[in-house]
Order: sequence, then structure tokens, then C-alpha cells
Amino acid sequence: MAKQFEDNFHRKFYYLRLSVTDVCNFKCTYCLPDGYQPAEKKKPSFLTLEEIQRVTGAFAECGTTKVRITGGEPSLRRDFTDIIRTVAEQPGITKVATTTNGYRMAKHIQEWRDAGLTHINVSVDSLDPKMFYQITGENMFHQVMSGIDAAFDAGFEQVKINTVLLKDLNSQELPKFLDWIKTRPIQLRFIELMQTGEMNDLFNHHHVSGVSIRNHLIANGWLLKVKSHNDGPAQVFCHPDFLGEIGLIMPYEKDFCQSCNRLRISAKGKLHLCLFGEQGVDLRDLLQADDQRPALIDRIRSGLDQKAVGHFLDEGKTGQTPHLASIGG
Ligand code: SAM
Ligand code: SF4
Repeated sequence: MAKQFEDNFHRKFYYLRLSVTDVCNFKCTYCLPDGYQPAEKKKPSFLTLEEIQRVTGAFAECGTTKVRITGGEPSLRRDFTDIIRTVAEQPGITKVATTTNGYRMAKHIQEWRDAGLTHINVSVDSLDPKMFYQITGENMFHQVMSGIDAAFDAGFEQVKINTVLLKDLNSQELPKFLDWIKTRPIQLRFIELMQTGEMNDLFNHHHVSGVSIRNHLIANGWLLKVKSHNDGPAQVFCHPDFLGEIGLIMPYEKDFCQSCNRLRISAKGKLHLCLFGEQGVDLRDLLQADDQRPALIDRIRSGLDQKAVGHFLDEGKTGQTPHLASIGG
């Protein structure tokens, strides 16, 4: 194995978040409130299967063990199953995850699992179908729920759910969510709303910190679990009376960036060192032939030298990211 990807602050990168499309069929209020709007007139050219194979192969050679396939909505790609298979085939990759809005899961989850998908995250912002519609702009609550059942039927031992915490929208639903995970092996992760470049008043009206949930959990006997080196940023809590777990993703908390172990590739092949911040390092010209791998690895390493110690979200600086669908949230 080549030397592990590491930055100037001794953070090692085991985890790659790979976006495979910017396109999405949902209109989540905090992400694409007006739906997907193509940036250019011509059809966007997202990474091909060969380019995906080359970039994930290079990361795997430098110590990455986990790849999350994201977007936009990754399952909108017609070759999504082939993408999963290609990533799973890279020597050294032991975890292949995806984050999806879940609308295609009920039909396809078995096929994805057979292709090598090991972990799945589904976004569910409310357990109330009407509120789900209000937040996502799509009336697909029941379809997404069937998809989650199908994931258990297909053999996934745990399903992770992402719920963006939104004051006055879903912030009163904690008891409902706890009831839901009591008998189901679901890790429900509350994500604090992050401010992105195109967000207007939504942040000011609906951002709420996860601290009160954390205090509630601790006061009620929930215990913080120890993390593994390629885990994501959630603080995960478990409880002996619950089959499920609760995760909290709190990017505004001091020291959030200290344990950063992940890098991102956009759907057009740019390396992003952080969800927020820079314009990205273009890698696409080095994804055109297998023998470019050494040059590709060198460019990634020089990019890593530029990785900042942290984001500046708490200072209201959202960097260049217009919304998370553009970079793979
Ligand atoms: N379309 C897929 C989905 O929604 O699961 C994958 C892409 S989406 C950008 C990835 C995750 O980012 C979702 O769980 C979504 O809820 C979250 N997300 C998007 N915008 C966000 C924001 N402004 N603040 C916090 N989380 C956000
Ligand atoms: Fe689409 Fe996911 Fe963004 Fe919702 S959060 S609009 S499902 S990309």
C-alpha cells in the first residue's frame, strides 16, 4: 500500500464521500427548495464508471477503507448498481455505503446489496407523512418506509436514518422517533441544519442545536459509544432498552473538525477537502487512463497540504458550497 493520505494536522483519511450526480428528484427545503436546476444548458457529464474505478482505486491504494456513494440522489444514476459493484471491487475497500432519499429502495435494495453495498443511510425528516411532504416537497413517505423494511428483508442488520433537525417543523418529534427505534435496529442521526451559500432565511428560522437532545438522552440513561477510525462524524448513543441508536451530528460544536477523517469527490471529479470552503482540486484529467494513477495520487497529496484546520461555519462563512446536493452531503 502507498503511504496513507494524511494532512498537515496528522489527520488520516480513511473515508471517501463520492458524489455521482448533482441531480435530485426531491425538493428538500434546506437543500434544493426549487428542485434541481441544471447549471449548464448541455447535459452535465458526471463521472463515468471507469473514472469512478480509477479514483476509488487510487484512494484505496492510499489507505481509504470506506466509500460512501452520494449526490444529489445517487440512485437516479441508471448504472447505480454497477457503480456499487465497481467500488466494492477495489482491493482494500471494506465498507461501501450510500446515502439516499430512499425512493427507489423498495424495488432495488436487494440488487444493490448483491452488488456489494454494505451500509445504507436513508433521509427521513419526519414520521408524519404531511410534515415529510412539507419538508421534502414529495409525497413519498410510505414508499420510503417500505424501502426501509425492504432493506431489513434484504439482510441489512442496521439501517441509518438521517434527519435534519428543524425548529418548529420536526423538532417536537423526538418521542415519536424514539418509539420508532425502540424495537428496530435503526441508527437515527439528527443532523444540525448547516447554512449553505444559497440558503435564505431558512437557517435563521429553523436552525436548532442538538444540545437539548443530547442532554435529554444523557439524563435518560443513554450512553455514548466509542468510535472506530473510519466512522463518520456522529456522536452515537445507545440504551439497553432500545434496539436502535441515536446519533448527533453537530458541525457547529467546537472541535468538530479535529477528528475529520474524510475527503470528498464531486460528481464532476473535483477533490473537496471540506464540505465548506474551497473550489476544489480538479482531478478529471488524471482519471482518463490507468497509468495516470501515480500522478493522480501526487495531485491528491498536494491538495491535502491545503486542507485547513477547520471550517468557519460558526462565523457565518459558508464558503463556495451553494447547497449540499452540489458536492455530495
Ligand atoms: N439525496 C440523498 C439524501 O437526501 O439522502 C443524498 C444527498 S443529501 C445532500 C445527503 C444528506 O445531506 C441528507 O441526509 C440531507 O438531509 C443532508 N443535508 C442536505 N442539506 C443539508 C443542510 N443544509 N444541513 C444539514 N444537512 C443537510
Ligand atoms: Fe435531494 Fe437529498 Fe438534497 Fe433532499 S437532501 S433535495 S433528497 S439531494
